[in-house]
Amino acid sequence: MPESLSVSPKVLHQRLMRALEHHDHLRKIKASPEDLDAALKATWKAMAAYSEAGHDPLEASVPHNRNYAIRMHGGLLVASQAQEWHEAVREWRYTRRCGRSPHVKTCELCGCTKVQYWFEIRNTVTDRTLVIGSECIQNWHSPGIVTAINYDRKQLEKVHKKELRLKELEQAAEKDPWLASRLPKLRATVEKYGKVYDEAECRVRAALGKPPLKNQRSSH
Ligand SMILES: [Zn+2]
Repeated sequence: MPESLSVSPKVLHQRLMRALEHHDHLRKIKASPEDLDAALKATWKAMAAYSEAGHDPLEASVPHNRNYAIRMHGGLLVASQAQEWHEAVREWRYTRRCGRSPHVKTCELCGCTKVQYWFEIRNTVTDRTLVIGSECIQNWHSPGIVTAINYDRKQLEKVHKKELRLKELEQAAEKDPWLASRLPKLRATVEKYGKVYDEAECRVRAALGKPPLKNQRSSH
């Protein structure tokens, strides 16, 4: 009996989250390619174990939109060897290559043309890769891949928010000499915490013409 069937899905989910966090941590500290590769493979293993345990063929619901379901299923089967949905899903791995595109992309699974956050999946049998949107994946009966992609999407959103905060800070500093004189330090604060606080926060909002925050304490 595979180990994944004797361990509760909750534990397998926790293991997957830990594997994802560990791989992320190694990426951040720029670990050696060997270590990164080993950590990536560990995430694949954890994804597969969780998918197997959480896989319930009876729960095979079809998404509400029939046309969408046909497009998505068709898109997957064309690039798979197995020609039955549940079998085909098992051939795919999420490679953890992902990103945010400044221009919308097309989902190669369902043809949706509004993809902002993209994720790459690879078929282990046919070696085909597909770039898909994060909405599409919510309809997969592969909890491991869904969990991993949702995890990565959150990280990408965090990075994007930080970029926006930095841009706002730069813009505000052009108008406010107080901010300009502290720019390197404030940039570092955004890098570390994702935003600036207190007087700096008030000043950025004021410089950009945004209303002050309700619960913001007066800085005077
Ligand atoms: Zn799609």
